[in-house]
Amino acid sequence: MSFSISDRCVNCYACLDLCPSNAISQGVSQFHIDSLRCTECAGHFADPQCASICPVEGALLDGEGQALHPPGSLTGIPPTLRVVAMEGQPAASLLP
Ligand code: SF4
Ligand code: SF4
Repeated sequence: MSFSISDRCVNCYACLDLCPSNAISQGVSQFHIDSLRCTECAGHFADPQCASICPVEGALLDGEGQALHPPGSLTGIPPTLRVVAMEGQPAASLLP
C-alpha cells in the first residue's frame, strides 16, 4: 500500500527530505508520492515520516484514501465550527 497527497497540500516542503524511500517529489500543483516507492516507512520508522510532519489536515491520505489527519485532528477545531469561522459568523452561536 502507498500513501498519497491530496490537493490540500500547501507545498510547504516539510515532508520532502524525510522520506526514507525518496518517494516524495514536487508535482505540478502539489507534492506527489510515488506509489511504487512508498513503503509506508515499514522497516525504517515506526510512524510514517511524511504524516508525522505534515501540518495540513487532509493533505496526506492512506492507502484507502482516508485522511491521516482528518478535519479537527491538528487544529482541535471541530469541522462544524471551522465552517462557521470561515463564513465570519460567531462560533458561539453553535455552542450548547
Ligand atoms: S509513508 Fe514513508 S515511505 Fe511513504 S511517502 Fe511517506 S515518508 Fe515516504
Ligand atoms: S508536509 Fe504536507 S503540506 Fe507540506 S509539502 Fe508535504 S504533503 Fe504538502
